[in-house]
Order: sequence, then structure tokens, then C-alpha cells
Amino acid sequence: MGYGMEYVCPNCGHSVSYFLGFGRLFPDFKKTCEILSELDNLINREELDKILSSESFIHENDEDKYENPEYLFEHVLSGELYECSDCEKYYPLNFFRIRSKEGELFVPRYSCEECGRELHLKKDDVFKCPKCGVIMDFIGEILWD
Ligand SMILES: [Zn+2]
Ligand SMILES: [Zn+2]
Repeated sequence: MGYGMEYVCPNCGHSVSYFLGFGRLFPDFKKTCEILSELDNLINREELDKILSSESFIHENDEDKYENPEYLFEHVLSGELYECSDCEKYYPLNFFRIRSKEGELFVPRYSCEECGRELHLKKDDVFKCPKCGVIMDFIGEILWD
């Protein structure tokens, strides 16, 4: 379920790999909740605490066990790549989406370590070398379950 992407710079030979998706890190719902509780920089910390302590909060794969969900993991916890478009820095971080019955969405919010601006999910596959700025070559994908 998880995968890594490897890139190498054609100019200086510097290589990077990013590990994304969900792997063994998040084996079950309880563990997922624990990880969520440990995240500091969420969009609304207080609201999230409320969600996680709610008995009606469900994991989308555990549907049969609960009847009246108020909240639903719309996107289970997974590693995604975020970027700062100003610094052109990339960060593999946890992404998830929780939707309330009223349609309210909760997603994590992260900021750049360099400039403090809000990070955005990376939409394309173009990576610049952190050393020299040249566009890196995609080497391959590593898969694991
Ligand atoms: Zn380079
Ligand atoms: Zn930045």
C-alpha cells in the first residue's frame, strides 16, 4: 500500500527518495487515532479532540460496527507530499480528511520550516534538486505492503 519515489539530479548526482502512501505505520484505527492526537499543527485542534473522543467517530473501513456516525474519515491517514511553492521545499507529511455529518471538513494544516508559509499538497511530479535547483530525473518507484 505504501510506495517510495526516487529521484536523482542529472547535474550534481544528488538523490532523494520520498516514502508515501500508507504502510505498516498505520495498521489499525486505534493507532490512527493516536497518531492524529499527536499532531500539533492541525487546522482546529480543539475540534479534532472533540471528534476523536466522540463515540460516533468511525473509520471508513469499520462501518459495520457503528450505526450513526457523526464523523467519518473520508480519507484515511496516509503519507503525502506537501510543498512550499516559495522555497521549493518538499515535505512528506500525514494527510487525512474527516467529514462531519453537517459536511464540515477537517484537514491538517502545515507550514514551511523555512519561511512559515502554508504548505500545499504537491500536484505534479516535478522536483527540483535541493542542492543545485536543476529538475531531477525520476528513477523509479519502490513498493511495499
Ligand atoms: Zn543537483
Ligand atoms: Zn517556504
